[in-house]
Amino acid sequence: STTSSSAFQPVLEQIAADIAGTPGRGRPADYIPALASADPRRFGMAVAELDGTVYGVGDWRHPFSAQSITKAFTLALVLSREGEELWEHVGREPSGNPFNSLVQLEYENGIPRNPFINAGALVVTDRLHSLTGDAVGTLREFLRAESGNPDLTFDEAVAASESAHGDRNAALAHFMASYGNITNPVPVLLDQYFRQCSIEASCADLALAAGFLARHGVRADGSNLLTRSQAKQVNAVMLTCGTYDAAGDFAYRVGLPGKSGVGGGIVAIVPGHCTLCVWSPGLDERGNSVAGVAALDRFTTLTGLSVF
Ligand code: GLN
Repeated sequence: STTSSSAFQPVLEQIAADIAGTPGRGRPADYIPALASADPRRFGMAVAELDGTVYGVGDWRHPFSAQSITKAFTLALVLSREGEELWEHVGREPSGNPFNSLVQLEYENGIPRNPFINAGALVVTDRLHSLTGDAVGTLREFLRAESGNPDLTFDEAVAASESAHGDRNAALAHFMASYGNITNPVPVLLDQYFRQCSIEASCADLALAAGFLARHGVRADGSNLLTRSQAKQVNAVMLTCGTYDAAGDFAYRVGLPGKSGVGGGIVAIVPGHCTLCVWSPGLDERGNSVAGVAALDRFTTLTGLSVF
């Protein structure tokens, strides 16, 4: 990675200036103390080009809790291994409900609506764990390889805190297990899921790690994780489901596949061009970073880059 200037550097600086009043709006996630203590005025943004050159502004090198951003990577890792079989266990329709909702599971027989709400992400992690014997180890190695950051790892304190406040996720997992849609023992799955969510990474790390989604499935070393068609599928699910019950508004404002996390990060993909990651801990009511969405909105407005 490099910090030499390109066409993107002035754009990032323009965005930071344009949205200067926005970081600090919204509230950090408060369901665990480790996230609640984040400073909502923090803001960082990185753009990675297809060749791995990365540009950034603000706190773009500062590690934060990746949380649900990791769900885009676990989805890709499972799709690469089992292909279409996955869709017998999880749907691919937007839910219109909050990310941790239980309500649709009963009348859809334990098959979650999509891989990005918590229920669907639990199914994906369960399958990755069965396919590899080590879901979170597989995820961490992949993120390290793609980001080039050998130190990227979990925050065990965040994982422990998630576990201590994990009743809702435990309920989701047990409920789906009752329909036979979870293969590992629920405590094993929950341990994997909480550690997955606790991954610490910077905007630079995550923009680089998502590069394969802009390169039509091709990894940093030139090998294929996904087919071109599968990369399109992951991007499509990110567009329609990646920001939960705000996905329609996100598509309207930003016009890119994106995946948010309650740590305040959002990864977005411009297929064939670049990847973006923005971070600011203040969230809106739907769990998406207020300044993050504003910055991505400015990016597509200033550059004209979008999937539309
Ligand atoms: N760890 C969080 C949870 O499971 C992740 C949610 C999110 O980032 N939207 O509730």
